[in-house]
Amino acid sequence: MKTIGLIGGMSWESSAQYYRIINQEVRERLGGVHSARSLMFSVDFGEIERLQHDGNWPALTIAMVDAAERLQRGGADFVVICTNTMHRMADEVTANISIPLLHIADPTGEVIAAAGYRRVGLLGTAFTMEQEFYKARLAGKFGLDVIVPDDADRAVVHEIIYKELVAGTVLSRSRAAYRAIMARLVERGAEAIILGCTEIMLLVGADDSSVPLFDTTTLHAQAAVDEALAGDTPESISG
Ligand code: GLU
Repeated sequence: MKTIGLIGGMSWESSAQYYRIINQEVRERLGGVHSARSLMFSVDFGEIERLQHDGNWPALTIAMVDAAERLQRGGADFVVICTNTMHRMADEVTANISIPLLHIADPTGEVIAAAGYRRVGLLGTAFTMEQEFYKARLAGKFGLDVIVPDDADRAVVHEIIYKELVAGTVLSRSRAAYRAIMARLVERGAEAIILGCTEIMLLVGADDSSVPLFDTTTLHAQAAVDEALAGDTPESISG
């Protein structure tokens, strides 16, 4: 089994979900009391959030490269950035380490394309919904036509992430707001919706939408387990 290197803390509410899902998957796949080999470097989200809202992407890039290098030095075989937004600097991270980065958009795009959906709604932070780094990868690699909520709805989605979800606050009025926003994406032709922020799965689930939801936290964590176990044979796993 390979060692998964997790860059966490963005926020720790979602990092905890990654840790749970990854270990549950390994236990289900290998049985017994097997669990994942992993390292997590967890940042202070207070610092990260301030730099994001200041638009200081150079400092954020330094922070992500530093975290990835720490994981590599610690013995990780590959790196998982446990947030969609911070994949903005995925190329710079990849360029500065010699182990692979498992990009969050790739398992997401693969599963959606394999399911036959083409026009998809994207919910995430304003950075993820409005900048090109994420939508362009889904369009370029997987042929997806990605639509995002209108200005007012994007502001609501973003506020709820930063004011509530990253602080572990889950409110039914915010769930109702997300349900309405997802319904408007469906009216505009979305055949499926990407939960493109790793905390959104804390707020909404399949029952909140008339079209399938694709949760990036779960898909990314499962892909990390696929990668960790790739190449293992039943004989190479004891117990
Ligand atoms: N976890 C969120 C995401 O997936 C937002 C927090 C962050 O900005 O990293 O984008």
